[in-house]
Amino acid sequence: MLQHDVLVIGAGLAGLRAALEAARSGADVGVLTKVYPLRSHSVAAQGGINAALSEDDSWETHAYDTVKGSDYLGDQDAIETMCREAPSDIVELERMGTAFSRRPDGRIDQRPFGGAGFPRTCYVADITGQAILHTLHEQALKLNVPTYDEWFVLSLVVEDGECRGAVALNMRTGEIEALAAKAVVMAGGGFGRVYTPTSNSLISTGDGHALAYRAGAPLMDMEFVQFHPTTLRDSGVLITEGARGEGGYLLNALGERFMEKYAPNKMELAARDVVSRAEQTEIDEGRGVDGCVLLDLRHLGKAKIMEKLFQIRELALDLTNTDFITDPVPVRPGMHYAMGGVKTDIHGATPLPGLFAAGECACVSVHGANRLGGNSMLETITFGRRAGRAAAEHARSKPSPSVLASAVQRDREMIAEILARPRNGERMADLRAEMAAAMNRGVGIFRTKQGMEEALSTVRQLKERAKSVPVASKGLVFNMELLSVIELGFMLDLAEVIALGALMREESRGAHSRRDFPERDDERWMKHTLARYRPEGPVLEYAPVTVTRWQPEKRVY
Ligand SMILES: Cc1cc2nc3c(=O)[nH]c(=O)nc-3n(C[C@H](O)[C@H](O)[C@H](O)COP(=O)(O)OP(=O)(O)OC[C@H]3O[C@@H](n4cnc5c(N)ncnc54)[C@H](O)[C@@H]3O)c2cc1C
Repeated sequence: MLQHDVLVIGAGLAGLRAALEAARSGADVGVLTKVYPLRSHSVAAQGGINAALSEDDSWETHAYDTVKGSDYLGDQDAIETMCREAPSDIVELERMGTAFSRRPDGRIDQRPFGGAGFPRTCYVADITGQAILHTLHEQALKLNVPTYDEWFVLSLVVEDGECRGAVALNMRTGEIEALAAKAVVMAGGGFGRVYTPTSNSLISTGDGHALAYRAGAPLMDMEFVQFHPTTLRDSGVLITEGARGEGGYLLNALGERFMEKYAPNKMELAARDVVSRAEQTEIDEGRGVDGCVLLDLRHLGKAKIMEKLFQIRELALDLTNTDFITDPVPVRPGMHYAMGGVKTDIHGATPLPGLFAAGECACVSVHGANRLGGNSMLETITFGRRAGRAAAEHARSKPSPSVLASAVQRDREMIAEILARPRNGERMADLRAEMAAAMNRGVGIFRTKQGMEEALSTVRQLKERAKSVPVASKGLVFNMELLSVIELGFMLDLAEVIALGALMREESRGAHSRRDFPERDDERWMKHTLARYRPEGPVLEYAPVTVTRWQPEKRVY
């Protein structure tokens, strides 16, 4: 049996940062990931990472912007922690080797981002995630942290009320094995593929959320799903907020900078929920262009585009045949980010002893009802580091974990049952598409009771239908169809939690915008939603929001 003090699941920014910190704290660490670490979705992050570095800025202003951006649902103790620790985290990344873009005087450059009162987003052109991921990967290699690449976690092991490891399928050999651990850090990333279109990659199927949820850890605020204002027409591929940060305009079919009507002070750099709703309103009221609005960067000039936004220029050229240098590019709001996740405290500890979580799959909660751009990568680094340290400390007091033969047997039987299904059932791909379309339709940018009820009912039917979805190939080595069926099960569990949480929340707050309850209702709803797993469906309860110094105010940009 494989064994570690700390097992980190996920090798994106959060997982690698947690692994580094646990290793530096003296723990024997293993990192397990379903794709090679440098293919983790963090590699796609473009625009930058926030920290109040300038003497004219302050971590308190960063925290206030984040609280306001969260529509007062973020926990202010967690937000204060993140914003206070951000500058030293950036300096540390730089010292580890991240080549941040510079000002002429050599200081790290910072660009304006949405909802921020100061230009505080540090960046590496428009490939920031890739640059930081490579840095952390190099550091993990240097410390000889072993990685189990292309291992797929099937379940977490819980014995005597504690998380003691995981069962995983080694995709290269087809073996199903237990990895015992004194502490587990879940860093499984986002669940973008619950929706379509999405800016997230094929691997963003919410496995981390679902594995923790099924193991008994509650999910928090899952109804808050971010729609990014600028995803490319057709593909849904992201165009970074950095494009607007560098000065890009949003235009409607009449050539108007329509944000003037919706956020006269911040214009294109209002918070994402505000800009996405504005775009959707323009499109719905007939002022769109083929279901899109236009992102215009021409006035920035070729030199600036080629220096700071070269990747998105290539993406737009390849995917829409439009060149930012000479033409406005069609964009529209698309599903982008999960504000909700596995509930943790500021040390990454979940309510399930032995299980920690960090990154997009966690909810600490610094984003509340709406995340500010640049705060997600920051969260992966700050709370990845904290979770790694706390997991190593937890492991120190624990005996060697027990053997997990029964857990392995349970997963072997689960897989045998899927492989034994008759071949004539419905296609997995069809069910995935149906789920994602239903979620986009019913639990999208604007929501109504009827739409959410329809989505919930579709998801519940799909859960039943998914039980007989067959897999054509019967082997276990790199059987991607089998893994897709397992991922579908994860996503359906999450879709149910998202739709139910949204239906119950009778107000509009941040990214949760109801046409039938258009106002924020602090008296009834300034509280977190917690979802607990039951085989028959989620049970919801509610928990208070932590307020330290900023009382809720009307949110205008
Ligand atoms: C296109 C795009 C651009 C973005 N740009 C920015 C930006 O500029 N600034 C910003 O702050 N945020 C940005 N974000 C958000 C941010 O990049 C992500 O939230 C963050 O990188 C997530 O990191 P993570 O470590 O939590 O997860 P990921 O990087 O997604 O890593 C998840 C890991 O979990 C592993 N895993 C998942 N399931 C399993 C399983 N069953 N078994 C084993 N391993 C598993 C995967 O292999 C992977 O290693 C962007 C997001 C997107 C999609």
